[in-house]
Amino acid sequence: MDQECRAAVRVAVDLVSHFTFGLPDALLGFIGWPPKKLRLHVAVLSDASGPLVTEAELTPSIDYIKRVFKDRFNVTVVPYSKSFVQVLAEQAPNAALEIDAGWDVYSADFGEAGDFFAKHLAGWNVVPVGFTFPVTVYVIRDIRGKKGYALPLFDYVLLDIDGVRLTTSTLAHEVGHACLLWHSGTQSNLMYKRDTRGDGVKGFQKNVLRSSRHVLYW
Ligand SMILES: [Zn+2]
Repeated sequence: MDQECRAAVRVAVDLVSHFTFGLPDALLGFIGWPPKKLRLHVAVLSDASGPLVTEAELTPSIDYIKRVFKDRFNVTVVPYSKSFVQVLAEQAPNAALEIDAGWDVYSADFGEAGDFFAKHLAGWNVVPVGFTFPVTVYVIRDIRGKKGYALPLFDYVLLDIDGVRLTTSTLAHEVGHACLLWHSGTQSNLMYKRDTRGDGVKGFQKNVLRSSRHVLYW
């Protein structure tokens, strides 16, 4: 299955979910009830010297998203598999290890990097293997010009080594993008574009995130 098909499946699944089980929160998400769940899978790439970061280094970012998503959205972040973090021991292709932020991430999805990411994507095997739609975070070596990157409708986001070691909010911010939140708010907002962001959210951001197909009642 090539990238065009992967993209078409994503768009179709997204539309169907928004107009079915996403609908109540698209309208009333600001109430933040009932509690919902998001499944998260963090996959750490390896280069010639081994895994890029340790599981322990990811703990602050994972604790942060768990706290903020529960407090602000009433969404419990749970691991997709038995733990949040998986180390991909095979050496990743260079195309997947270093990417320019922006259009390059989109075009990379059509090449070797995209094939690598598709192969390791949690919950998908060309088509979704269940009805949980996890978000996969790939930890790569460098996103030139950024610490994290996400594209709308992708089931994965990227985080680089600096995004793990120098900030705790980048992972949560990028998963917010995966749930269709865009840059908005002032410095106190989770979706503020710079690293100095806070963890606040606005009512409409609850509608958007809680109606995403990654955020479920089950
Ligand atoms: Zn952003």
